[in-house]
Amino acid sequence: MRIVVLAGGIGGARFLRGLKAAAPDADITVIGNTGDDIHLFGLKVCPDLDTVMYTLGGGIHEEQGWGRAGETFAVKDELAAYGVGPEWFGLGDRDFATHIVRTQMTAAGYPLSAVTEALCTRWQPGVRLLPMTDDRVETHVLVDDPEAPQSDGEPARKAVHFQEYWVRLRARVPAHAVVPVGAENAKPAPGVLEAVAAADVVLFPPSNPVVSIGTILAVPGVRTAIAEAGVPVIGLSPIVGDAPVRGMADKVLAAVGVESTASAVARFYGSGLLDGWLVDTTDAAVVDEVEAAGIRCRAVPLMMTDLEATRRMAADALALAEEVRA
Ligand code: GDP
Ligand code: CA
Repeated sequence: MRIVVLAGGIGGARFLRGLKAAAPDADITVIGNTGDDIHLFGLKVCPDLDTVMYTLGGGIHEEQGWGRAGETFAVKDELAAYGVGPEWFGLGDRDFATHIVRTQMTAAGYPLSAVTEALCTRWQPGVRLLPMTDDRVETHVLVDDPEAPQSDGEPARKAVHFQEYWVRLRARVPAHAVVPVGAENAKPAPGVLEAVAAADVVLFPPSNPVVSIGTILAVPGVRTAIAEAGVPVIGLSPIVGDAPVRGMADKVLAAVGVESTASAVARFYGSGLLDGWLVDTTDAAVVDEVEAAGIRCRAVPLMMTDLEATRRMAADALALAEEVRA
């Protein structure tokens, strides 16, 4: 069985661990979000690709969900001693090595897809990990700019990098728009469209619908390839009981005019893309509403508390795919 998964960081990576357990013989291709990528200290950092790579490769800081286990922060402290920031983005010493290798290979002319493959030679994630594109795409968020003069009585606005909005501002200021800058001119990375065309099933893990999966779908050709692949497309809700299980997805959903409910997220993807949707048992009441929108829906436990619970979620997603196929 060939499975294609669109993944952000933590939600995608943890789900993938369960999927590998549920389908040990499957050939899994992961299309990773690179809209969160940022250049820091002259280095190219790909937080979502690395979260998938470290999680599946056994190097992740388990409790935190991102970054390396057993991390130290000597380089960060030394940079701070020079007054060189930003200090709000936590890069540890072990993690720095990944970004140095990536930046060195990029400078030597290798595309991100080749760099990611090289990094995965070490980590052996057990899936084929592809960046959504080799081109630069950067998610920006439009926020108020209290420092700038008002125009027409309206507060001025400015665009900030997604990481600044998410990590430094903790998504505490209103987001007016989320823009994947550069996406319109990006090409899917080598292998992305081929993997979708060859897939038996496409899965959307409980990743952020706007800034993880939404960004991947914004790369021209990806959405159409998935919609036209003619195979079941099944998603799992990151929203449980009208709130994100973790993080601030509700803030970016609001920015695109979508309520933070399991049903609204399914309808945001739409029946033109999504064939099946899993909601948590807490949200069983929305099953009829989702099905009325033309998307087959089931309520099952969706909390990734441990590997077994996550394996069951992935098995439920594959079972729903079979139901759709039949
Ligand atoms: P990020 O890039 O690190 O933010 O990770 P993703 O975009 O892949 O996933 C983030 C989403 O995962 C958040 O919106 C969470 O609500 C969701 N999430 C995290 N843990 C769980 C869980 O145990 N169950 C469900 N259903 N969603 C989860
Ligand atoms: Ca992310």
